[in-house]
Amino acid sequence: MQNDLRALIAQSRRVVFFGGAGVSTESGIPDFRGENGLYRQKFAYPPEVILSHSFFMRHTEAFFDFYRQRMLCPGAQPSRAHRILADMERAGKLTGIVTQNIDGLHQAAGSQNVLELHGSVKRNYCMQCRRFYPETAVADSTGVPRCACGGIIKPDVVLYEESLDEGVMTRALQLIADSDLLIVGGTSLTVYPAAGFITYRGGKLAVINKTPTAADAQADLCSHGSVGDALAAAWE
Ligand code: NAD
Repeated sequence: MQNDLRALIAQSRRVVFFGGAGVSTESGIPDFRGENGLYRQKFAYPPEVILSHSFFMRHTEAFFDFYRQRMLCPGAQPSRAHRILADMERAGKLTGIVTQNIDGLHQAAGSQNVLELHGSVKRNYCMQCRRFYPETAVADSTGVPRCACGGIIKPDVVLYEESLDEGVMTRALQLIADSDLLIVGGTSLTVYPAAGFITYRGGKLAVINKTPTAADAQADLCSHGSVGDALAAAWE
């Protein structure tokens, strides 16, 4: 697989990476559905309920308790996969990244063209006056984080039941359609509409995920291993 991926990358001029939480497990951030994912742990409510818009509105304090403990990892550093993708972009091989992740690690690794379908924990805003706040305003708070005006500070992440940003969606679909190789990595491809984006690809498809996905059968290449290992073997 690795050598084949190296050959596919060499033949391609507009590689796009589409990723998910599995890209950041090697940075110590748990995914949802992987072997140590949050879905294997017990909480008062399932994670997709806690991370929904209606739960946020009804049980705001419980949402922030979970969010601070489980979704924020302020000390996390980019993994090999993040660094290699940034290097591929600098080399003019990769035209961009479409990510479902909210951790900001692609940008921390130096990637420039990153489309965050589900927003970012790095951006937060007051629901009342729209003032912007950094991650620390939520990470260092207790209870419900509040703006000076009294409004709730909401993370700029797309919760379940909320829609994706139209501008980001349009640019992501265009990037994927213009690609001649789409590398899908570290995602279970179960969260929609994001998972459906890969059907708009313009060229070949490589899938690297520790566990099988619904896209494996359509892929030109498929590996059930670590995304960091596969990218390192194909690029370094
Ligand atoms: P998911 O948890 O549903 O799937 C992750 C997949 O990655 C699993 O199939 C797992 O087997 C695989 N995986 C784990 N580590 C891997 C590795 N090192 N190499 C290759 N594969 C690996 O995650 P998803 O598909 O991204 O969807 C979950 C949603 O949760 C997303 O919308 C995302 O916003 C959110 N989320 C984000 C983060 C983050 O920002 N780091 C973390 C958890 C969840």
